[in-house]
Amino acid sequence: MAVSISDIIAPLVREYYAGLTPKEIAPQHVERREFGFGDFERTIAYRHVAFENETKLHSYLVESAPPFVSYSPSEYEDPAGRPMENKHWMGSELVFDLDATDMKLACQKEHGSSWVCQNCLDAVKAETMKLVEEFLIPDFGVSEKEISVNFSGNRGYHVHVMNEDIYKLGPGARKRLTEYISGAGIDLKNFFPALGERGHRLEGPTPTDYGWGGRLARGVISALNGGEAALISLGIDKTIARKLSKNKAEVVLGIATNGNWDKINIPNKADVWTNVLNGMAVRQGDQIDRNVTNDVYHIIRLPNSIHGKSGLVSKKLRSFKELAGYEPMKEAIAFRKGTMEVVATSPQFSMGGETFGPFNGTKVELPTYAAAYLLLKRVATPK
Ligand SMILES: [Zn+2]
Repeated sequence: MAVSISDIIAPLVREYYAGLTPKEIAPQHVERREFGFGDFERTIAYRHVAFENETKLHSYLVESAPPFVSYSPSEYEDPAGRPMENKHWMGSELVFDLDATDMKLACQKEHGSSWVCQNCLDAVKAETMKLVEEFLIPDFGVSEKEISVNFSGNRGYHVHVMNEDIYKLGPGARKRLTEYISGAGIDLKNFFPALGERGHRLEGPTPTDYGWGGRLARGVISALNGGEAALISLGIDKTIARKLSKNKAEVVLGIATNGNWDKINIPNKADVWTNVLNGMAVRQGDQIDRNVTNDVYHIIRLPNSIHGKSGLVSKKLRSFKELAGYEPMKEAIAFRKGTMEVVATSPQFSMGGETFGPFNGTKVELPTYAAAYLLLKRVATPK
């Protein structure tokens, strides 16, 4: 009889949870959270589960070894209540789900959306840093100690904000926060009152301005200093990038000293600066993923739980500072003991500081975590 993936992975998941203390896996106020669990087909197979305390949650995880564990960023008086209204919502963390697949990276056309490469991981990390450093801290007034970051367990990061003022915000206010960071509905006329009017000098924001205006000025100046390629990466077309770059000193001086954005003449200014603004926004994905932030009833991967499509841990970072040097393919590994034989067909990948593959239908003995990774990515079969 063939061995199923579940037969191989479940004991590893059980051993992982058994090796944690209840405190290491339980979220704050565990008794007010709703939990959901997945199997190898669905990330959430059932939900509306509640636990009285950390120990009960921990025992459940060790006993049932679920491949996916989700919990509510919301807190409820009765988290197991059904329908949702009967849970009696108390408040909610603000959560952002950043996933490499939402970033439309060129590498994804080559390796497909279920695979993740180093470029994917680097890009989504930079986007997460941008969310925290450019938006949450300066514009929303959140402090670093109210921010908790965890690897998603697969190809992104989750950012949780635990802030007293944000806790009580309803879906409408949360939606406006999402729109703000994605640059949606921002009218450039707010920063460039004369935009689109002929015969007026284009006065615009300076780098010290608050919010989007200052961010736009700082971003353009930093791209000007970075050269033509940096301007193009902000969404400016080649011809205009070249022209700006040639007159760099003058343009920077104009914007920085008195907000004069008209030092050189560029066509279709409104389109150019709108594109730039969009390039500086946080790519938090489409409508479906935005719901994680806006929908207070959404449940999301429990930090430090196993991700059943990778076998990696959705590892909680000790602090935001750790993110810059964080390497999930080294630090979020769970199944560290022993080796396993599989038949693999996969691109080359690095894990635990070692490089494996590429494999082309090869029977190969790998560290357990690497074999489990390939099995769960469905690019290997049990030997
Ligand atoms: Zn990639």
